[in-house]
Amino acid sequence: MAGRVIKDDQPRVYFDCNKCPAFCCSIYERVGVTKRDINRLAKHFGVTPDEARERYTADWEGERVLKRVKDVIFEKTCAFLDQKTRGCTIYHARPEVCRSYPNRSRCAYYDLLRFERIQQGDESVVPQVKITFHDVEEEVVDNADGPERIYEWGEKER
Ligand code: SF4
Ligand code: SF4
Repeated sequence: MAGRVIKDDQPRVYFDCNKCPAFCCSIYERVGVTKRDINRLAKHFGVTPDEARERYTADWEGERVLKRVKDVIFEKTCAFLDQKTRGCTIYHARPEVCRSYPNRSRCAYYDLLRFERIQQGDESVVPQVKITFHDVEEEVVDNADGPERIYEWGEKER
């Protein structure tokens, strides 16, 4: 996530976090943390794991996540994002999920950023993205013209 340094010996990637407004730190409703992540935060801030849990994380439907705050670009962002530089303020203590993201050579949000900046002819534009997940079930029903694929929207967002 934001602030990542790409070293020469790492596999080639086609995104540059230093030129990105940190979609990944902002557009997901939750950045999950494990016990180990909380311990790392506690060590970083010199507090107990219980204090770190209380101060820096919140409950999101039973899951422990990093706290979020209002953002200057997106609706909300991670409390640890520097909103001016768009870099992570706890880079060496960031959770595991931030370290591995996006876990592939391309980042879809960086591609989107590049695409829209070219489309709009404006290198300062930031496409507004909000991502949420919704279950959908596929069902095949028989009708007069033969089998048809339909989709049942689940009630639960996740
Ligand atoms: S959205 Fe992609 S390019 Fe932007 S900071 Fe996150 S990982 Fe880097
Ligand atoms: S901890 Fe750092 S890298 Fe992870 S979401 Fe927050 S600002 Fe982004």
